[in-house]
Amino acid sequence: MQRLIQGLHHFQNAVFGSQRELFERLAKGQAPETLFITCSDSRIDPNLLTQTVPGELFIMRNAGNLVPPYGASQGGEAATIEFAVAGLGVKEIVVCGHSHCGAMKGLLDPPPAKDFPALTQWLGHAESTRRVVRDKYADREGASLINITIQENVLAQLENLRTHPVVASGLAQSKLKLHGWVYKIETGEVFGYDPESGQFRLLTEQPSHRTDRERQFEPLDV
Ligand code: ZN
Repeated sequence: MQRLIQGLHHFQNAVFGSQRELFERLAKGQAPETLFITCSDSRIDPNLLTQTVPGELFIMRNAGNLVPPYGASQGGEAATIEFAVAGLGVKEIVVCGHSHCGAMKGLLDPPPAKDFPALTQWLGHAESTRRVVRDKYADREGASLINITIQENVLAQLENLRTHPVVASGLAQSKLKLHGWVYKIETGEVFGYDPESGQFRLLTEQPSHRTDRERQFEPLDV
C-alpha cells in the first residue's frame, strides 16, 4: 500500500499541475468516443497502449473480457454498456483480449468449481468460445490452442455485444462500430479482427485488405 500512497503524492505534486486544464475540463463532464472492454489482467493498461488521456476511454474490465448476453447476468455489464451507448453516445466499442490470458487458460482447463464457484459460473459466458475451440480446433494444443481461444473469445464476446438492445440499435443506424482486438503483452503489438479476411491482423495506420473469407485462424503467435 505504501507504494500506492507514494504514487498518489507523486501524481499530485509532479503530474497534476502540468495537466490541470484537462482535469478542470473533465470535472464538468465526459464525452468519451470509445467503450473499451478488456480483461482485468494487471499487465494491460488501455490508456498506455492506445496513448489516450483521461476522458477518452470509457472502460469496462472483468476476468476474460466477457460480455454476458443481454438478460443473462445480474452484473453491471449490461448497465455499463447501456450507459456508454445511450447515455454517453460512444461511437466505437472495442473488445480487447490479450496474450497469456489466465481466464482463457481457465476456460480450457477449469479450476475446481468448489474452490472457485463464482469464477466457474462467470466463465459460462464464454461457453460458446470453449465449444467452438473444442469442435473446430481439436488438432491444436499448448500455446497455439490458448492463442486460438483468446481470438475466438473476442469474436464470441462481440456476438454477445450484439444482443444488447442499445448496441443492436446503434449498429442498425450505423452510429456504432464494433472492433475485436488482441494485445500481445511481450511485444506491445495489437492485432485487430479483419472481417474481410477472417483473420486478426497487426493494426497499423493503413490496414491491408484481403478477401479470403473462411474464418480458420492461423496459429498466430499472439
Ligand atoms: Zn486475461
